Amino acid sequence: MQANIVLLPGDGIGPEVVTEAVRVLEGIASKHGHSFSFTEHLMGGCSIDKYGSSLTEETLAACQAADAVLLGAVGGPKWDDPNAKDRPERGLLALRKGLKVFANLRPVKVHPALMEWSPLKPEILEGVDILVVRELTGGLYFGWPKGREIKDGRERAVDTLEYYDYEIKRVMHLAFKLAKGRKKKVISVDKANVLESSRLWRQIATQIGQEYPDVELEHMLVDTASMRLITGPAEMDVVVTENMFGDILTDEASVLAGSMGMLSSASLGESGPGLYEPIHGSAPDIAGKGIANPVGTILSSAALLRHSLNLEKEAATIESAIDEVITSGARTNDIGGKLSTTQMADEIITRL
Ligand code: NAD
Repeated sequence: MQANIVLLPGDGIGPEVVTEAVRVLEGIASKHGHSFSFTEHLMGGCSIDKYGSSLTEETLAACQAADAVLLGAVGGPKWDDPNAKDRPERGLLALRKGLKVFANLRPVKVHPALMEWSPLKPEILEGVDILVVRELTGGLYFGWPKGREIKDGRERAVDTLEYYDYEIKRVMHLAFKLAKGRKKKVISVDKANVLESSRLWRQIATQIGQEYPDVELEHMLVDTASMRLITGPAEMDVVVTENMFGDILTDEASVLAGSMGMLSSASLGESGPGLYEPIHGSAPDIAGKGIANPVGTILSSAALLRHSLNLEKEAATIESAIDEVITSGARTNDIGGKLSTTQMADEIITRL
């Protein structure tokens, strides 16, 4: 297998964790006779500094032409000025839109050896295996109009929460298909008691659910879902939700796994390259110290092999190496250990 992978290390700890994921991918390539070529581009704050734009047309074109894109994280205090013309997050949203990756898959599993590291009780964490499917290119983050104005002498801000039926249908189909290969349970999260967009969401979830009679569908309000995530996460299988609810719920879910540094994500469209990134941000508080946990990014590279390159066996090899490493007691600082980013990756590479 030959594959062209674009790397967008980004800002803060992004380059530190992407470097380690690339070493893991190179290890897999040499073991299994694949040839991966890596091309690196700037995106986010570093791209604003060099080109005056968080995502240049050249970088987007390179990503669109790749087999897959691996991203670290973007952002940081340096680019936080609310009046700035461009922000790192704008580049990220434009990249997702440009790659047409409408679904973001975020698996949340709790490794038994890390249960003590979560603030929740072990009996609540036992057996947690959730897949959150978040709609990624619609809703409040993209709706129009958006902005600020002075109206009748008062400052006003507006964001628009908008969904078309087709946007809900495609992410719903994906959620049900994924549930078929799991415990066959879908929870569709909305706020249908208040929001019109959620009433459309629920209507379409019901309609698509009828096409998958072997999969159980439950509708849940987002406030209930946020509570159930910490009171009964083990009962959840596939959770499908709109963009902003998914953004918030997945950060909440990351607490189950013990650290943000442990979780991966895959963003997929109908066709074209997938976008793979850890769920954490650029962690400016620890950037440059060499202590970031690389596991979320390495798991993202396993997802890349699975979803974009169809290399299931290789993806599973990485995942079981990580399982073994955690079981063996190897830990970075965020999960109570002393290993550096590189040492943690070394532990994984030796077990591939
Ligand atoms: P964050 O995820 O960067 O950090 C939250 C906390 O988790 C910090 O204490 C950090 O040290 C820790 N942490 C995160 N990843 C870790 C890892 N791999 N290993 C060890 N510890 C880790 O969130 P934040 O501090 O709210 O945001 C920092 C910047 O990142 C902001 O500019 C934000 O906009 C940006 N951000 C970017 C993305 C992205 O690129 N997809 C996502 C979230 C936040």
